[in-house]
Amino acid sequence: MALLGGNKSDSEHDEIQLFYGKGLSEQPLPRYEIPKDTMPAGAAYDFIMDELRDEGSARQNLATFVQTWMEPEAQQLIMNTLDKNAVDKSEYPQTAEIEERCVNIIANLWHADQRDEFIGTSTVGSSEACMLGGMAALFRWKKQARELGLDMSKRPNLVISSAYQVVWEKFGVYWDVELREVPVTKECLALDPEKAIELIDDYTICVVGIMGLTYTGRYDDIKALDAAITTYNETSKVKVYIHVDAASGGLYTPFMEPDLEWDFRLDNVKSINTSGHKYGLVYPGVGWVLWKDKTWLPEELIFKVSYLGGDMPTMAINFSRPASLIVAQYYLFLRLGFEGFRQVHARTQKAAKYITKEIEKLDLFEVINGADQLPVIAWTLKEDPGVAWDLYDLSDFLRMRGWQVPAYPMPADLEEMVVLRAVIKGDFSYDSALLFVRDLKASIEKLNKSHIIPNANNHPKTSHGFTH
Ligand SMILES: *Cc1c(COP(=O)(O)O)cnc(C)c1O
Repeated sequence: MALLGGNKSDSEHDEIQLFYGKGLSEQPLPRYEIPKDTMPAGAAYDFIMDELRDEGSARQNLATFVQTWMEPEAQQLIMNTLDKNAVDKSEYPQTAEIEERCVNIIANLWHADQRDEFIGTSTVGSSEACMLGGMAALFRWKKQARELGLDMSKRPNLVISSAYQVVWEKFGVYWDVELREVPVTKECLALDPEKAIELIDDYTICVVGIMGLTYTGRYDDIKALDAAITTYNETSKVKVYIHVDAASGGLYTPFMEPDLEWDFRLDNVKSINTSGHKYGLVYPGVGWVLWKDKTWLPEELIFKVSYLGGDMPTMAINFSRPASLIVAQYYLFLRLGFEGFRQVHARTQKAAKYITKEIEKLDLFEVINGADQLPVIAWTLKEDPGVAWDLYDLSDFLRMRGWQVPAYPMPADLEEMVVLRAVIKGDFSYDSALLFVRDLKASIEKLNKSHIIPNANNHPKTSHGFTH
Protein backbone atom coordinates (compact mmCIF):
# COMPACT_ATOMS: atom_id res chain seq x y z
CA MET A 1 0.00 0.00 0.00
CA ALA A 2 2.77 2.41 0.89
CA LEU A 3 4.11 1.78 -2.61
CA LEU A 4 1.28 3.82 -4.01
CA GLY A 5 2.73 6.80 -2.16
CA GLY A 6 5.72 6.85 -4.47
CA ASN A 7 4.04 7.22 -7.82
CA LYS A 8 5.65 9.33 -10.51
CA SER A 9 3.29 12.27 -10.58
CA ASP A 10 4.16 12.94 -6.97
CA SER A 11 7.84 13.15 -7.75
CA GLU A 12 7.09 15.83 -10.31
CA HIS A 13 6.58 18.10 -7.36
CA ASP A 14 9.80 19.88 -6.78
CA GLU A 15 10.15 18.87 -3.17
CA ILE A 16 12.24 16.44 -1.21
CA GLN A 17 10.59 13.03 -1.20
CA LEU A 18 10.80 11.98 2.39
CA PHE A 19 10.73 8.32 3.32
CA TYR A 20 7.09 8.29 4.36
CA GLY A 21 4.23 10.68 3.90
CA LYS A 22 6.21 13.09 1.69
CA GLY A 23 7.08 15.28 4.64
CA LEU A 24 3.41 15.71 5.45
CA SER A 25 3.34 13.16 8.22
CA GLU A 26 4.25 15.72 10.87
CA GLN A 27 0.86 17.39 10.52
CA PRO A 28 -2.31 16.05 12.10
CA LEU A 29 -4.96 15.21 9.51
CA PRO A 30 -7.76 17.78 9.22
CA ARG A 31 -10.67 17.17 11.57
CA TYR A 32 -12.85 20.26 11.34
CA GLU A 33 -11.93 22.20 8.23
CA ILE A 34 -11.18 21.32 4.66
CA PRO A 35 -7.43 21.78 4.10
CA LYS A 36 -6.31 24.79 2.12
CA ASP A 37 -3.84 22.96 -0.10
CA THR A 38 -3.70 19.76 -2.11
CA MET A 39 -1.86 16.63 -1.05
CA PRO A 40 -0.35 13.96 -3.32
CA ALA A 41 -2.82 11.14 -3.96
CA GLY A 42 -0.44 8.52 -2.61
CA ALA A 43 0.04 10.34 0.67
CA ALA A 44 -3.71 10.85 1.16
CA TYR A 45 -4.20 7.15 0.44
CA ASP A 46 -1.54 6.08 2.95
CA PHE A 47 -2.80 8.35 5.70
CA ILE A 48 -6.37 7.18 5.39
CA MET A 49 -5.36 3.52 5.26
CA ASP A 50 -3.36 4.15 8.44
CA GLU A 51 -6.37 5.65 10.18
CA LEU A 52 -8.44 2.60 9.33
CA ARG A 53 -5.73 0.08 10.16
CA ASP A 54 -6.61 -0.76 13.75
CA GLU A 55 -10.36 -1.01 13.42
CA GLY A 56 -10.53 -4.75 13.67
CA SER A 57 -10.60 -7.30 10.94
CA ALA A 58 -13.89 -7.72 9.11
CA ARG A 59 -13.20 -11.44 8.71
CA GLN A 60 -13.12 -11.93 12.49
CA ASN A 61 -16.24 -9.88 12.99
CA LEU A 62 -18.77 -12.48 14.12
CA ALA A 63 -21.07 -9.71 15.36
CA THR A 64 -22.50 -8.94 11.96
CA PHE A 65 -24.75 -10.79 9.52
CA VAL A 66 -23.28 -8.75 6.69
CA GLN A 67 -20.90 -10.29 4.17
CA THR A 68 -17.19 -9.70 4.64
CA TRP A 69 -15.74 -11.43 1.59
CA MET A 70 -16.34 -11.60 -2.15
CA GLU A 71 -14.46 -13.20 -5.02
CA PRO A 72 -11.95 -11.09 -7.00
CA GLU A 73 -14.19 -11.33 -10.09
CA ALA A 74 -17.12 -9.96 -8.12
CA GLN A 75 -14.94 -7.17 -6.75
CA GLN A 76 -13.84 -6.34 -10.29
CA LEU A 77 -17.47 -6.17 -11.44
CA ILE A 78 -18.23 -3.88 -8.53
CA MET A 79 -15.33 -1.59 -9.45
CA ASN A 80 -16.40 -1.63 -13.11
CA THR A 81 -19.92 -0.48 -12.31
CA LEU A 82 -19.41 2.00 -9.49
CA ASP A 83 -19.98 4.85 -11.93
CA LYS A 84 -23.43 3.62 -12.98
CA ASN A 85 -26.30 5.19 -11.09
CA ALA A 86 -28.92 2.49 -10.55
CA VAL A 87 -31.74 5.01 -10.73
CA ASP A 88 -30.88 6.12 -14.28
CA LYS A 89 -32.88 3.35 -15.82
CA SER A 90 -33.21 4.98 -19.21
CA GLU A 91 -29.51 5.70 -19.29
CA TYR A 92 -28.50 2.20 -18.21
CA PRO A 93 -31.31 -0.03 -19.48
CA GLN A 94 -29.27 -3.22 -19.21
CA THR A 95 -28.54 -2.52 -15.55
CA ALA A 96 -32.28 -2.04 -15.02
CA GLU A 97 -32.86 -5.34 -16.81
CA ILE A 98 -30.38 -7.06 -14.47
CA GLU A 99 -32.22 -5.67 -11.45
CA GLU A 100 -35.48 -7.01 -12.89
CA ARG A 101 -33.91 -10.44 -13.41
CA CYS A 102 -32.84 -10.48 -9.77
CA VAL A 103 -36.39 -9.63 -8.69
CA ASN A 104 -37.67 -12.50 -10.88
CA ILE A 105 -35.15 -14.97 -9.48
CA ILE A 106 -35.95 -14.03 -5.89
CA ALA A 107 -39.70 -14.15 -6.57
CA ASN A 108 -39.21 -17.66 -7.91
CA LEU A 109 -37.14 -18.72 -4.89
CA TRP A 110 -39.96 -17.41 -2.69
CA HIS A 111 -42.62 -19.27 -4.71
CA ALA A 112 -44.47 -16.28 -6.09
CA ASP A 113 -46.98 -17.51 -8.62
CA GLN A 114 -46.00 -15.93 -11.95
CA ARG A 115 -49.68 -15.35 -12.76
CA ASP A 116 -49.99 -13.26 -9.64
CA GLU A 117 -47.87 -10.56 -11.21
CA PHE A 118 -45.49 -10.02 -8.34
CA ILE A 119 -43.69 -6.71 -8.09
CA GLY A 120 -40.48 -5.75 -6.33
CA THR A 121 -37.42 -3.56 -6.19
CA SER A 122 -33.88 -3.44 -4.98
CA THR A 123 -33.10 -1.20 -2.02
CA VAL A 124 -30.04 -0.13 -0.04
CA GLY A 125 -30.72 -2.91 2.44
CA SER A 126 -33.47 -4.43 4.53
CA SER A 127 -34.06 -1.24 6.47
CA GLU A 128 -35.32 0.52 3.37
CA ALA A 129 -37.08 -2.67 2.29
CA CYS A 130 -38.86 -3.09 5.66
CA MET A 131 -39.87 0.55 5.57
CA LEU A 132 -41.48 -0.02 2.16
CA GLY A 133 -43.21 -3.22 3.28
CA GLY A 134 -44.56 -1.44 6.35
CA MET A 135 -45.67 1.60 4.36
CA ALA A 136 -47.53 -0.53 1.85
CA ALA A 137 -49.33 -2.27 4.74
CA LEU A 138 -50.16 1.07 6.36
CA PHE A 139 -51.55 2.60 3.17
CA ARG A 140 -53.55 -0.53 2.38
CA TRP A 141 -54.94 -0.58 5.93
CA LYS A 142 -55.90 3.11 5.74
CA LYS A 143 -57.87 2.53 2.57
CA GLN A 144 -59.70 -0.41 4.11
CA ALA A 145 -60.30 1.43 7.38
CA ARG A 146 -61.73 4.48 5.61
CA GLU A 147 -64.07 2.34 3.55
CA LEU A 148 -65.28 0.63 6.70
CA GLY A 149 -65.73 3.95 8.50
CA LEU A 150 -63.26 3.31 11.33
CA ASP A 151 -62.19 6.14 13.61
CA MET A 152 -59.17 7.41 11.69
CA SER A 153 -57.94 9.52 14.61
CA LYS A 154 -56.93 6.36 16.43
CA ARG A 155 -53.35 5.18 16.16
CA PRO A 156 -52.80 2.09 14.00
CA ASN A 157 -50.58 -0.74 15.27
CA LEU A 158 -48.26 -3.44 14.04
CA VAL A 159 -47.81 -6.79 15.80
CA ILE A 160 -44.28 -8.21 16.02
CA SER A 161 -42.00 -10.29 18.24
CA SER A 162 -40.18 -8.32 20.94
CA ALA A 163 -36.94 -9.55 19.38
CA TYR A 164 -37.45 -7.29 16.34
CA GLN A 165 -34.66 -5.43 14.59
CA VAL A 166 -34.40 -1.68 15.25
CA VAL A 167 -35.77 -0.75 11.81
CA TRP A 168 -39.30 -1.58 13.05
CA GLU A 169 -38.89 0.81 15.94
CA LYS A 170 -37.92 3.46 13.40
CA PHE A 171 -40.93 2.60 11.29
CA GLY A 172 -43.18 3.05 14.33
CA VAL A 173 -41.69 6.45 15.14
CA TYR A 174 -41.60 7.76 11.57
CA TRP A 175 -45.20 6.75 10.84
CA ASP A 176 -46.72 7.00 14.32
CA VAL A 177 -47.61 3.32 14.36
CA GLU A 178 -47.72 1.51 17.72
CA LEU A 179 -45.52 -1.58 17.94
CA ARG A 180 -47.39 -4.30 19.79
CA GLU A 181 -44.73 -6.66 20.98
CA VAL A 182 -45.23 -10.36 21.52
CA PRO A 183 -42.66 -11.09 24.24
CA VAL A 184 -40.13 -13.83 23.63
CA THR A 185 -39.81 -16.14 26.61
CA LYS A 186 -37.44 -18.84 27.64
CA GLU A 187 -39.96 -21.43 26.49
CA CYS A 188 -40.85 -19.68 23.25
CA LEU A 189 -37.87 -17.83 21.79
CA ALA A 190 -39.72 -16.88 18.62
CA LEU A 191 -43.12 -15.36 17.90
CA ASP A 192 -45.97 -17.16 19.68
CA PRO A 193 -48.82 -17.14 17.08
CA GLU A 194 -51.58 -17.42 19.68
CA LYS A 195 -50.26 -14.45 21.63
CA ALA A 196 -49.87 -12.50 18.38
CA ILE A 197 -53.54 -13.06 17.53
CA GLU A 198 -54.57 -11.75 20.95
CA LEU A 199 -52.87 -8.43 20.14
CA ILE A 200 -54.55 -7.95 16.76
CA ASP A 201 -57.53 -5.65 16.33
CA ASP A 202 -59.14 -3.58 13.59
CA TYR A 203 -56.27 -1.10 13.82
CA THR A 204 -53.57 -3.64 13.02
CA ILE A 205 -51.85 -2.79 9.72
CA CYS A 206 -50.03 -6.14 9.55
CA VAL A 207 -48.25 -8.80 11.55
CA VAL A 208 -44.52 -9.02 10.92
CA GLY A 209 -42.97 -12.47 11.01
CA ILE A 210 -39.19 -12.63 11.24
CA MET A 211 -37.11 -15.22 9.41
CA GLY A 212 -34.06 -15.09 11.51
CA LEU A 213 -34.35 -13.16 14.77
CA THR A 214 -31.25 -11.03 15.10
CA TYR A 215 -30.89 -12.03 18.76
CA THR A 216 -30.66 -15.76 18.23
CA GLY A 217 -30.95 -16.64 14.56
CA ARG A 218 -34.18 -18.56 15.18
CA TYR A 219 -37.16 -18.42 12.82
CA ASP A 220 -40.66 -17.34 13.71
CA ASP A 221 -43.15 -20.08 12.81
CA ILE A 222 -44.70 -18.30 9.84
CA LYS A 223 -46.80 -21.30 8.82
CA ALA A 224 -48.51 -21.48 12.22
CA LEU A 225 -48.94 -17.70 12.17
CA ASP A 226 -50.52 -17.93 8.72
CA ALA A 227 -53.00 -20.57 9.91
CA ALA A 228 -53.93 -18.51 12.98
CA ILE A 229 -54.50 -15.44 10.82
CA THR A 230 -56.67 -17.35 8.36
CA THR A 231 -58.91 -18.28 11.30
CA TYR A 232 -58.88 -14.71 12.60
CA ASN A 233 -59.80 -13.29 9.20
CA GLU A 234 -62.83 -15.58 8.90
CA THR A 235 -64.73 -13.43 11.38
CA SER A 236 -62.86 -10.13 11.55
CA LYS A 237 -64.08 -6.89 10.03
CA VAL A 238 -60.63 -5.72 8.96
CA LYS A 239 -58.49 -8.43 7.37
CA VAL A 240 -54.92 -8.78 8.58
CA TYR A 241 -51.92 -9.95 6.56
CA ILE A 242 -48.27 -10.86 7.07
CA HIS A 243 -45.09 -9.12 6.06
CA VAL A 244 -42.05 -11.38 6.49
CA ASP A 245 -38.81 -9.69 7.50
CA ALA A 246 -36.44 -12.25 6.03
CA ALA A 247 -33.38 -9.99 6.14
CA SER A 248 -31.16 -12.94 7.02
CA GLY A 249 -33.22 -15.99 6.06
CA GLY A 250 -34.59 -14.85 2.70
CA LEU A 251 -31.59 -16.06 0.74
CA TYR A 252 -30.60 -18.84 3.14
CA THR A 253 -33.74 -20.86 3.88
CA PRO A 254 -34.76 -21.46 0.23
CA PHE A 255 -31.49 -23.32 -0.30
CA MET A 256 -31.19 -25.04 3.07
CA GLU A 257 -34.78 -25.92 3.89
CA PRO A 258 -36.67 -25.75 0.60
CA ASP A 259 -39.66 -27.56 2.10
CA LEU A 260 -40.12 -25.12 4.96
CA GLU A 261 -43.17 -23.01 4.15
CA TRP A 262 -42.65 -19.42 5.21
CA ASP A 263 -42.97 -17.50 1.93
CA PHE A 264 -45.55 -16.72 -0.77
CA ARG A 265 -46.78 -20.32 -0.59
CA LEU A 266 -48.70 -19.14 2.46
CA ASP A 267 -51.96 -17.30 1.72
CA ASN A 268 -51.52 -14.42 4.11
CA VAL A 269 -47.91 -13.59 3.31
CA LYS A 270 -48.19 -10.60 0.99
CA SER A 271 -44.73 -9.05 1.12
CA ILE A 272 -41.20 -10.15 2.01
CA ASN A 273 -37.88 -8.36 2.35
CA THR A 274 -34.31 -9.62 2.45
CA SER A 275 -30.79 -8.21 2.62
CA GLY A 276 -28.71 -9.18 -0.40
CA HIS A 277 -25.70 -8.34 1.75
CA LYS A 278 -26.50 -10.96 4.38
CA TYR A 279 -26.88 -14.53 3.13
CA GLY A 280 -27.32 -13.20 -0.41
CA LEU A 281 -23.50 -13.10 -0.18
CA VAL A 282 -23.00 -9.53 -1.49
CA TYR A 283 -20.98 -6.75 0.17
CA PRO A 284 -23.10 -4.18 2.08
CA GLY A 285 -25.45 -2.01 0.08
CA VAL A 286 -28.25 -4.12 -1.39
CA GLY A 287 -31.64 -5.34 -0.21
CA TRP A 288 -34.87 -6.51 -1.82
CA VAL A 289 -38.58 -6.20 -1.17
CA LEU A 290 -41.27 -8.03 -3.11
CA TRP A 291 -45.05 -8.08 -3.05
CA LYS A 292 -46.95 -11.21 -3.95
CA ASP A 293 -48.91 -9.28 -6.53
CA LYS A 294 -49.29 -5.68 -7.59
CA THR A 295 -52.52 -5.19 -5.68
CA TRP A 296 -50.58 -5.36 -2.40
CA LEU A 297 -48.46 -2.37 -3.29
CA PRO A 298 -50.75 0.68 -3.15
CA GLU A 299 -50.62 2.84 -6.28
CA GLU A 300 -49.68 5.90 -4.23
CA LEU A 301 -46.31 4.32 -3.50
CA ILE A 302 -45.37 3.87 -7.14
CA PHE A 303 -43.93 7.03 -8.63
CA LYS A 304 -43.43 7.73 -12.27
CA VAL A 305 -40.30 9.73 -12.70
CA SER A 306 -39.54 11.40 -15.94
CA TYR A 307 -35.84 11.10 -16.26
CA LEU A 308 -33.49 11.74 -19.16
CA GLY A 309 -36.37 11.58 -21.55
CA GLY A 310 -37.76 8.31 -20.14
CA ASP A 311 -40.68 7.56 -17.91
CA MET A 312 -39.86 5.10 -15.19
CA PRO A 313 -41.71 3.72 -12.21
CA THR A 314 -39.82 3.86 -8.96
CA MET A 315 -40.93 2.65 -5.55
CA ALA A 316 -37.66 2.70 -3.60
CA ILE A 317 -37.18 5.52 -1.09
CA ASN A 318 -33.60 6.25 -2.04
CA PHE A 319 -32.85 7.79 -5.41
CA SER A 320 -29.20 7.69 -6.54
CA ARG A 321 -26.91 4.83 -5.68
CA PRO A 322 -24.32 2.73 -7.48
CA ALA A 323 -25.61 -0.19 -9.53
CA SER A 324 -22.57 -2.23 -8.45
CA LEU A 325 -24.19 -4.27 -5.72
CA ILE A 326 -27.23 -5.14 -7.82
CA VAL A 327 -24.84 -6.34 -10.50
CA ALA A 328 -22.92 -8.26 -7.82
CA GLN A 329 -26.14 -9.97 -6.70
CA TYR A 330 -26.79 -11.11 -10.25
CA TYR A 331 -23.19 -12.30 -10.50
CA LEU A 332 -23.73 -14.54 -7.48
CA PHE A 333 -26.96 -16.04 -8.85
CA LEU A 334 -25.14 -16.75 -12.10
CA ARG A 335 -21.91 -17.93 -10.55
CA LEU A 336 -23.27 -20.20 -7.82
CA GLY A 337 -26.67 -21.29 -9.04
CA PHE A 338 -29.01 -23.07 -6.66
CA GLU A 339 -26.54 -25.85 -5.97
CA GLY A 340 -23.68 -23.44 -5.29
CA PHE A 341 -25.70 -21.39 -2.80
CA ARG A 342 -26.73 -24.61 -1.09
CA GLN A 343 -23.14 -25.80 -0.83
CA VAL A 344 -21.79 -22.51 0.48
CA HIS A 345 -24.53 -22.29 3.11
CA ALA A 346 -24.16 -25.96 4.06
CA ARG A 347 -20.45 -25.46 4.63
CA THR A 348 -21.15 -22.39 6.74
CA GLN A 349 -23.65 -24.36 8.80
CA LYS A 350 -21.16 -27.19 9.24
CA ALA A 351 -18.55 -24.80 10.68
CA ALA A 352 -21.21 -23.31 12.99
CA LYS A 353 -22.29 -26.78 14.14
CA TYR A 354 -18.72 -27.73 14.89
CA ILE A 355 -18.33 -24.63 17.10
CA THR A 356 -21.65 -25.42 18.79
CA LYS A 357 -20.48 -28.92 19.65
CA GLU A 358 -17.24 -27.62 21.11
CA ILE A 359 -19.08 -25.01 23.19
CA GLU A 360 -21.41 -27.68 24.56
CA LYS A 361 -18.45 -29.86 25.51
CA LEU A 362 -17.09 -27.13 27.79
CA ASP A 363 -20.00 -27.81 30.16
CA LEU A 364 -20.29 -24.15 31.14
CA PHE A 365 -22.90 -22.95 28.71
CA GLU A 366 -26.40 -23.51 27.49
CA VAL A 367 -26.75 -23.20 23.73
CA ILE A 368 -29.94 -21.36 22.73
CA ASN A 369 -29.43 -21.71 19.02
CA GLY A 370 -26.84 -24.05 17.64
CA ALA A 371 -27.07 -23.19 13.95
CA ASP A 372 -30.18 -25.32 13.46
CA GLN A 373 -31.80 -22.51 11.54
CA LEU A 374 -29.52 -19.62 10.60
CA PRO A 375 -25.83 -20.51 11.07
CA VAL A 376 -25.79 -18.49 14.28
CA ILE A 377 -24.61 -19.72 17.64
CA ALA A 378 -26.22 -18.01 20.61
CA TRP A 379 -25.25 -19.24 24.03
CA THR A 380 -25.61 -18.27 27.63
CA LEU A 381 -23.87 -19.24 30.88
CA LYS A 382 -25.67 -22.13 32.51
CA GLU A 383 -27.01 -21.67 36.03
CA ASP A 384 -24.27 -21.77 38.64
CA PRO A 385 -21.42 -22.28 36.21
CA GLY A 386 -18.96 -21.93 39.09
CA VAL A 387 -16.91 -19.15 37.49
CA ALA A 388 -16.12 -15.62 38.63
CA TRP A 389 -16.45 -14.04 35.19
CA ASP A 390 -19.46 -13.34 32.98
CA LEU A 391 -20.16 -13.25 29.25
CA TYR A 392 -19.19 -9.59 28.96
CA ASP A 393 -15.73 -10.54 30.24
CA LEU A 394 -15.52 -13.41 27.80
CA SER A 395 -16.52 -11.09 24.95
CA ASP A 396 -13.69 -8.70 25.97
CA PHE A 397 -11.15 -11.51 26.12
CA LEU A 398 -12.15 -12.80 22.69
CA ARG A 399 -11.78 -9.26 21.39
CA MET A 400 -8.15 -9.26 22.54
CA ARG A 401 -7.60 -12.08 20.08
CA GLY A 402 -9.34 -10.14 17.33
CA TRP A 403 -12.74 -11.88 17.51
CA GLN A 404 -15.80 -9.69 17.74
CA VAL A 405 -18.49 -11.68 19.52
CA PRO A 406 -21.03 -9.43 21.21
CA ALA A 407 -22.58 -10.10 24.62
CA TYR A 408 -26.02 -8.58 25.13
CA PRO A 409 -29.21 -9.04 27.14
CA MET A 410 -32.29 -10.53 25.49
CA PRO A 411 -35.26 -8.15 24.92
CA ALA A 412 -37.96 -7.12 27.40
CA ASP A 413 -39.20 -9.82 29.78
CA LEU A 414 -36.07 -11.85 29.25
CA GLU A 415 -33.49 -9.16 30.01
CA GLU A 416 -31.90 -11.15 32.78
CA MET A 417 -30.69 -13.59 30.14
CA VAL A 418 -27.38 -12.47 28.66
CA VAL A 419 -26.15 -14.20 25.53
CA LEU A 420 -23.07 -14.32 23.38
CA ARG A 421 -23.73 -14.58 19.67
CA ALA A 422 -21.47 -15.62 16.82
CA VAL A 423 -22.77 -15.23 13.27
CA ILE A 424 -20.94 -17.55 10.89
CA LYS A 425 -20.72 -16.53 7.26
CA GLY A 426 -19.68 -17.92 3.89
CA ASP A 427 -16.02 -16.97 4.25
CA PHE A 428 -15.58 -18.93 7.48
CA SER A 429 -13.52 -22.05 6.81
CA TYR A 430 -13.28 -25.12 8.98
CA ASP A 431 -9.81 -23.92 9.91
CA SER A 432 -11.21 -20.56 11.07
CA ALA A 433 -13.60 -22.55 13.26
CA LEU A 434 -10.67 -24.45 14.77
CA LEU A 435 -8.87 -21.20 15.50
CA PHE A 436 -11.98 -19.68 17.02
CA VAL A 437 -12.49 -22.66 19.33
CA ARG A 438 -8.82 -22.57 20.30
CA ASP A 439 -9.10 -18.87 21.19
CA LEU A 440 -12.38 -19.40 23.04
CA LYS A 441 -10.80 -22.08 25.23
CA ALA A 442 -7.69 -19.96 25.82
CA SER A 443 -9.84 -16.96 26.78
CA ILE A 444 -11.77 -19.06 29.30
CA GLU A 445 -8.56 -20.44 30.75
CA LYS A 446 -7.14 -16.97 31.12
CA LEU A 447 -10.34 -15.68 32.72
CA ASN A 448 -10.32 -18.56 35.18
CA LYS A 449 -6.82 -17.56 36.25
CA SER A 450 -7.36 -13.81 36.35
CA HIS A 451 -8.14 -11.87 39.49
CA ILE A 452 -11.78 -11.07 39.07
CA ILE A 453 -13.66 -10.20 42.23
CA PRO A 454 -17.01 -11.97 41.92
CA ASN A 455 -20.05 -9.69 41.65
CA ALA A 456 -17.82 -6.64 41.67
CA ASN A 457 -17.85 -6.01 37.96
CA ASN A 458 -19.64 -2.94 36.81
CA HIS A 459 -20.36 -3.70 33.21
CA PRO A 460 -23.26 -1.75 31.87
CA LYS A 461 -25.88 -4.40 31.23
CA THR A 462 -26.66 -3.15 27.77
CA SER A 463 -25.76 -4.22 24.29
CA HIS A 464 -22.08 -4.63 23.91
CA GLY A 465 -21.07 -4.29 20.30
CA PHE A 466 -24.32 -5.92 19.23
CA THR A 467 -24.90 -5.25 15.57
CA HIS A 468 -27.46 -6.69 13.27
C1 LIG B 1 -30.31 -6.95 9.46
C2 LIG B 1 -31.74 -6.90 9.68
C3 LIG B 1 -32.47 -5.77 9.30
C4 LIG B 1 -31.83 -4.54 8.71
O1 LIG B 1 -31.21 -4.88 7.53
P1 LIG B 1 -30.12 -3.96 6.78
O2 LIG B 1 -29.95 -4.68 5.50
O3 LIG B 1 -28.91 -3.99 7.64
O4 LIG B 1 -30.69 -2.60 6.63
C5 LIG B 1 -33.85 -5.81 9.47
N1 LIG B 1 -34.45 -6.88 10.01
C6 LIG B 1 -33.76 -7.98 10.41
C7 LIG B 1 -34.50 -9.14 10.97
C8 LIG B 1 -32.38 -8.02 10.26
O5 LIG B 1 -31.71 -9.11 10.63
